Amino acid sequence: MEFSIKNVFSAELPADPNRNNTRRQVMESCFSYVSPRIPGQPSLVHASDEMAKALGLSEQDIASPEFLKVFSGASLLDGSDPYAMCYGGHQFGQWAGQLGDGRAINLGEVEHDGKRWTLQLKGSGETPYSRSADGLAVLRSSVREHLCSEAMYHLGVPTTRSLSLCLSGDEVLRDMLYNGNAAYEKGAIVCRVAPGFIRFGSFQIFASRGDKERLKQLSDFTIKHYFPEVKSTGTQSYLDFFNEVLNRTLNMVIEWERVGFVHGVMNTDNMSILGLTIDYGPYGWLEGFDPGWTPNTTDAQAKRYRFGNQAPVALWNLYQLANTLFILVEDAKPFEEALERFKKDYAEQKFAMMRSKLGLALEFEDDPVLIDRLEQVLQLTETDMTIFYRALAGVEKERDAGAALTVIKQAFYIPEELDGEIHEQWTEWLEQYITRLGREDLSDQERASEMNLVNPKYVLRNYMAQLAIDAADSGDYGLIDDLYQLLKQPYAEQIEKEKWFAKRPDWARHRVGCSMLSCSS
Ligand code: AMP
Ligand code: MG
Repeated sequence: MEFSIKNVFSAELPADPNRNNTRRQVMESCFSYVSPRIPGQPSLVHASDEMAKALGLSEQDIASPEFLKVFSGASLLDGSDPYAMCYGGHQFGQWAGQLGDGRAINLGEVEHDGKRWTLQLKGSGETPYSRSADGLAVLRSSVREHLCSEAMYHLGVPTTRSLSLCLSGDEVLRDMLYNGNAAYEKGAIVCRVAPGFIRFGSFQIFASRGDKERLKQLSDFTIKHYFPEVKSTGTQSYLDFFNEVLNRTLNMVIEWERVGFVHGVMNTDNMSILGLTIDYGPYGWLEGFDPGWTPNTTDAQAKRYRFGNQAPVALWNLYQLANTLFILVEDAKPFEEALERFKKDYAEQKFAMMRSKLGLALEFEDDPVLIDRLEQVLQLTETDMTIFYRALAGVEKERDAGAALTVIKQAFYIPEELDGEIHEQWTEWLEQYITRLGREDLSDQERASEMNLVNPKYVLRNYMAQLAIDAADSGDYGLIDDLYQLLKQPYAEQIEKEKWFAKRPDWARHRVGCSMLSCSS
């Protein structure tokens, strides 16, 4: 394995001088040096060949003993001086103080094809930021992170990636439902990959401590390495930086809405400054379209992180970042203007995104009404979001609403409910949609091809990940690779894999891991 490790982050930013791995408040530092824990009996469960290729690694590299050693934390690459990052965050709206990488350890950066990537092991033991937890991760949550990161990438959603999934060979004690039933589970380690892992909370921690010098250092570093579009200097550069973070964050949320993804824990420590989806925990995919749905059991009451609240929460998080960067700018007005812009930009971008999902290339005045109305009819009876939009591409503009209803019928969970008033409302919407299609220049076929590029056929449905976990738990990794391969081409027809283009099976409706997920991981 030919890999040359660079240490850009750790060379340019202030390090914690204490190299002891003791839990503590770490002041005036962006990170602490710490070594990954040696796994008891590591084994490779799965690797992403696409991610490997992007790093310049071959199939032979993946199969080599060295790959397993390095990405399970058993041995270090030459030049690697691993470290855990310091950050804070607002959790569920409350300032939580120092959090940091409690179980993530950066190995360093590598460059390939003109791109620089940071490699990070998740689940490889305690760090100074572990607080009262063990620094480990279990197989179930690691399968979910590995598969979903790669699936999101292939969907075209900004995301951190995953190179590999290893078993540590050690057991990890977890109380999965936080109900006093702790049990041993298999320990696992994912190697996450991203240009960088800096979070909103990485800046917040310094602001909370009044450490302006470190805040400036980290901001300058982030702009220099990750925001080439920021051309200004001095105070203006922090404002341009903030505006760009806002743009990227907004784009990420719009993309989540497009594919039906619910992050589940949008705390400010889980917000990448690069606008990447990060920290795959109790996330979920919409099955029945429901803006009020959250997969996270910890959030079942307040539903702060429900599907339909992701844009407002992103904005709330951006307010917290603005409060932080204000220290460098000392003028609130330009931040207020930027934050004010968010709502307007969101509305515009959501409108464009929804038109693309509906196959509307042209723009007409009453389109917003058609779109709003659709979000209502989709909730009249449980309607599978993915199947609905995919089937909608089959509606023909020369035929009537009855024919269209037959085309989309497969998306309804209880087709019998499509009666009376509900039937009427659907018919009415489809009539409006067909009339609207009549004003488009594209043929049905051309429109369908366009729609099928934005409406995925295959997503990582909650129950699919759970099936892969169940199999993996008993030592069969075949389904992990099947799903990984399927989700490499989420927009393509894959006739032999059609069984995954189906509504959630009944057994999965209330099963833990399929419809309910805790933060335990
Ligand atoms: P999360 O909810 O996964 O975003 O984690 C919130 C904070 O808790 C972060 O600082 C994590 O690094 C830390 N954390 C989560 N799980 C563990 C664990 N098993 N051991 C140590 N720290 C953890
Ligand atoms: Mg986190």
